[in-house]
Amino acid sequence: MIQLFRIRGIPVRIDAGWLLIFGLVTWSLASGYFPHVLPARSAAAYWLHGLLAAALLFGSVFLHELSHALAALDQGVPVGGITLHVFGGVSQLDAEPPTPRAELLIALVGPLTSFAIAGLCLVADRLIDGPAAFHAVAGYLVAINLVVGIFNLVPGFPLDGGRVLRATLWWWTGRLSVATRIASRCGSVVALALVALGALRALAGDLVGGLWFVLVGLFLHQAARSSWELMRVRARLEPLRVEDVMTRAPLVADLIVPLAEAGTALGAEQVVRPRDTAWQAFLKLGKSRGGRVAVVDGHALVGVVSDRDLQNVLAARDSRRADAAPRAA
Ligand SMILES: [Zn+2]
Repeated sequence: MIQLFRIRGIPVRIDAGWLLIFGLVTWSLASGYFPHVLPARSAAAYWLHGLLAAALLFGSVFLHELSHALAALDQGVPVGGITLHVFGGVSQLDAEPPTPRAELLIALVGPLTSFAIAGLCLVADRLIDGPAAFHAVAGYLVAINLVVGIFNLVPGFPLDGGRVLRATLWWWTGRLSVATRIASRCGSVVALALVALGALRALAGDLVGGLWFVLVGLFLHQAARSSWELMRVRARLEPLRVEDVMTRAPLVADLIVPLAEAGTALGAEQVVRPRDTAWQAFLKLGKSRGGRVAVVDGHALVGVVSDRDLQNVLAARDSRRADAAPRAA
């Protein structure tokens, strides 16, 4: 993972796999699209056009993600970063949107940005009397941004359309967990449909395109599942306080940080308060390297929360739920 720059404090990163996909897109443009729309040019010209169009495609994807991130900040949702990866990009939101309306706004602004870019490129294509290469690139950007906008509106969580669905269900039922469950299920169905479609394409002879559908489908399936898993963890940890789940200070033998300095020596991201929710501790644990966060009350270190503490809590609540469930005779 390489960090490129920050924009309004949001780190923008590219995943190593992204370089591979950038190369693949450039290659397919240089060997397929441009020789088709601009006949009789040199190979070097095709590669240059391919590089330029691929860079503009990923610039468009970046603007799509940036719009999500800025809308989230606007709605008071912290943003962990924007990452461009093999399957496009993702804006990592560090909390759930506060209301269905906020979620709807954050979700819709992405596809709207893609449609706006497509519209601008279409206008430029029609109004500017440029060389053939200009129109070839503009035409590609119109088509690809339409595809990005429409694909993201498919109602399977965590795609944007799935978030729109979740916001609607959340508003309707008043329950985020129910809405997430249904929207994630739809996400899994969409993902499996993509896998099936990819397999059919591959059987019909388009091996590369088919395989690509299968990979995107598997990726989405995993994303839908993990969103739902995270929601379940959240539903269990949110009602609990840090003080209910932490290991108290006298039991923490190997702690290096002196008690008096605890409040200042550790960064805010490694510290929770006793009255914070266990879910907040879970989020901070996800980012900490040592597998635990300190619990500080005023300036005193009163305990730590470790991965194991939270696993114990989750396991205990699982077994209690299993005990309470009616059994078949
Ligand atoms: Zn999006």
